[in-house]
Amino acid sequence: GIGYINGKFTNLDELVLPIDERGHQFGDGVYEVIRVYNGTPFMLDEHLDRLINSSKAIKLPITQTVEDFKNLILEAVDKSQLMDCNVYMQITRGIVTRNHLFPTVPVSITMTVRPAKLISQTTREKGETAIFHEDERWANCYIKSLNLLPNILAKQTAFEAGCYEAILVRDGYVTEASSSNVFIIKDGKVFTTPLSKQILPGITRMAVKNATNLLNIDFIDKNFTPEELLEADEVFVTSTTSEVLPIVKVDGKLIGTGKPGEVTNRIYQQFLKLI
Ligand code: PMP
Repeated sequence: GIGYINGKFTNLDELVLPIDERGHQFGDGVYEVIRVYNGTPFMLDEHLDRLINSSKAIKLPITQTVEDFKNLILEAVDKSQLMDCNVYMQITRGIVTRNHLFPTVPVSITMTVRPAKLISQTTREKGETAIFHEDERWANCYIKSLNLLPNILAKQTAFEAGCYEAILVRDGYVTEASSSNVFIIKDGKVFTTPLSKQILPGITRMAVKNATNLLNIDFIDKNFTPEELLEADEVFVTSTTSEVLPIVKVDGKLIGTGKPGEVTNRIYQQFLKLI
């Protein structure tokens, strides 16, 4: 893998971050994770679009264009010599003596490129497990902000319960999961939480929407309750790193037959074709 900070490529173990950096002092920044398949970043335009939206939402004074970001990412991937990897890019409000008020310094851009960690075939065939967890996050979850404390606490709770994901519930409805979007399948139709300020507009969610279109499967934006999820025929979650991943057990209760479902699998196969 390879690192990058403000114009310089580095080794991943190099100590490069100054003490006065607003990313680690305040979490005052935004980020993206982009999957590279066989040397090509997947849905790069969509990721950069979301990065710009997140930056605008927190008033980051970025001077870089989409083209600049694209070139930087492609250069980093090229330098890493990795064909299948994840690009992590983070933009913060810069390096300056700690003070809550916005500084007048340039934004700080850091990046890592690391080998992609693949989900094993066995896991994909068996499916994953989850718990329900209160959505304790703030009101602007559509921003891909560095502040992930509630997500981390929920994911750790899931892990300690022997599960993979925490499915978040706000006001009686499923929003998304700690690091993925959530989908249920009922009578052959796909339902997922509508886009709003309460969830991250997942890029993989978008890819799944495209896949269902190609498969002539209904894709319906609709809120659902934890009870409706438990009564679904199939459940899956999506993210850049996990792609389309079946969930077969939630809070110890089996979904459908307790095995990854046929519709989920068709969607995943179509997703793979989009890569
Ligand atoms: N929701 C949350 C809270 C996430 O952290 C992620 C992954 N970063 C997602 C959804 C999935 O988004 P994407 O498909 O763009 O990776």
